[in-house]
Amino acid sequence: MKVFRSMVLVSSDPQSMLHGAEEVFQRFQAEIKAFGLEDEVTVSMVGDIGRHDVFPLVIIYPEAVTYGPVGVDQVHAIVEEHLYKGRVIPEFQASVRELSGRIAWLNARKGTVPAEQRIVLERAGLIDPTSIEDYILHDGYAALGKVLTEMTPMDVIGEIQKSGLKGRGGAGFPTGLKWSFVSKANGDKKYVICNADESEPGTFKDRVILEGDPFSILEAMTIAAFAVGADEGYIYVRGEYALAQERLIQAIEQAKEYGFLGKGIFGTSFNFDIHVHSGAGAYICGEETALLESIEGKRGEPRIRPPYPTTHGLWGKPTLINNVETLANVPAIIRHGAEWYRQFGTPSSPGTKVYTVLGNVNVTGLIEVPMGITLREVIAIYARGMKNNRAFKLAQTGGSSGSVIPASLQDTPMDFDSYARAGVSLGSGALLICDEDTCVVDLARVLLNFFRRESCGKCTPCRVGTERAWYLLKRISEGQGALKDLEELLDLSDNLYQLSNCGLGQTAGTPIRDILKHFRAEVEAHIRLGVCPAGVCPMHEEIPASPVIA
Ligand code: SF4
Repeated sequence: MKVFRSMVLVSSDPQSMLHGAEEVFQRFQAEIKAFGLEDEVTVSMVGDIGRHDVFPLVIIYPEAVTYGPVGVDQVHAIVEEHLYKGRVIPEFQASVRELSGRIAWLNARKGTVPAEQRIVLERAGLIDPTSIEDYILHDGYAALGKVLTEMTPMDVIGEIQKSGLKGRGGAGFPTGLKWSFVSKANGDKKYVICNADESEPGTFKDRVILEGDPFSILEAMTIAAFAVGADEGYIYVRGEYALAQERLIQAIEQAKEYGFLGKGIFGTSFNFDIHVHSGAGAYICGEETALLESIEGKRGEPRIRPPYPTTHGLWGKPTLINNVETLANVPAIIRHGAEWYRQFGTPSSPGTKVYTVLGNVNVTGLIEVPMGITLREVIAIYARGMKNNRAFKLAQTGGSSGSVIPASLQDTPMDFDSYARAGVSLGSGALLICDEDTCVVDLARVLLNFFRRESCGKCTPCRVGTERAWYLLKRISEGQGALKDLEELLDLSDNLYQLSNCGLGQTAGTPIRDILKHFRAEVEAHIRLGVCPAGVCPMHEEIPASPVIA
């Protein structure tokens, strides 16, 4: 294996690609050659590096100096000064104050910010996601090798159960238990599906994993297939994630060439193949039974449950469905063991969680931290505080279907059990952090607008309830509300939760319930006083008649 003196990493997430990352990468290759450094310096395009306001970023190892945004015109100077003469160019460096994600993690090693704990994202932004050799160099396929040569399917399921891993898609169901259900299910054919239809507004953690470390998902699915007795798998990828799809398809081809997918994996009798299925932009297809319908070529509508996919899944066969982040934990658990994994997080929610941090904070981006960290810590440490020193008012967790968390709950440990005890949900991992200038009526109106548009329409409580709730919130935000609307909104929220067929409808009323529980006075001010305390709502504008009650 060739050893290089320096390694240049160019970010190649979609934003960086739009800002010329490919051209920057090619110019680095040409300049490195022109300076005769091709035997000493290697350059790679890597996945999302973690900062989401500067594109593209370039990191030079081993000194971990970060330049950005880097244009083609700067490459010659970086190669000449930094790589040839050994002099950092301070004026080209990305501002340290605003560094986040992978870079914050690197800086943490230098003692400038507290460290993240990277398990799921251990390679994303560090390896070339188009190279199976690079993946193997960074412990890739060590877990699958161990599984196929040293473990039985029951050993694998036992290890995942011991690790305490819970599903990271939002529900928090114990992963090992789900694997055991599929393993015990009767069927001549079984499937493993990776749910990569990441459509929650503000959530992009799965995209970063898929683009930055696609082989880890293939390896995890192959381990899962061995454990439950499946021989075929699907990765259902959100249609808008073109780069993730491209990298997965490339990764599947390379894995087949290396004998890590297909027939006789690792020289054993175990066979497993994976297909990539592109979604078509419907939020509801992230619901696992709608996803199954979609793969089967039908309209993406949730099924009535039971029966559950573990026994009656794709084409009626037992099917294991796991989210991307859940699967990304698996190779590390197998490599290091369940005990190692349980040292992170809390006893009831071991491991880490990847969050997308958004909103009115100084640093937005992606972090991976141990389960149990508090919202206050996320804001103070990783987001570097509230923007413009405004006061923290609320956070919305988990995209549209998550909870509204008021300041009084910001010291609650962010793990499944602590949040459940506090009556809030952790959701899929988006943290929308809002300051005092945010209006809760406006926030709920925007969320209900999303739900009414994304409702598949199959069941009446959701189809009609989301439309009516949006209409009432719109009416309140425009100064035309009545106090009785609040009782109707609470009724709608209850009915949505109790009577809807799937998670979309069941959670659509969550923002209504939360704002009336924590911010009722602010909502009533819109009605009683005709003012929006945050100064956001367009009070007293004309509104259309309700499509439901007109
Ligand atoms: Fe469709 Fe909504 Fe019913 Fe779910 S709850 S099946 S999204 S109408």
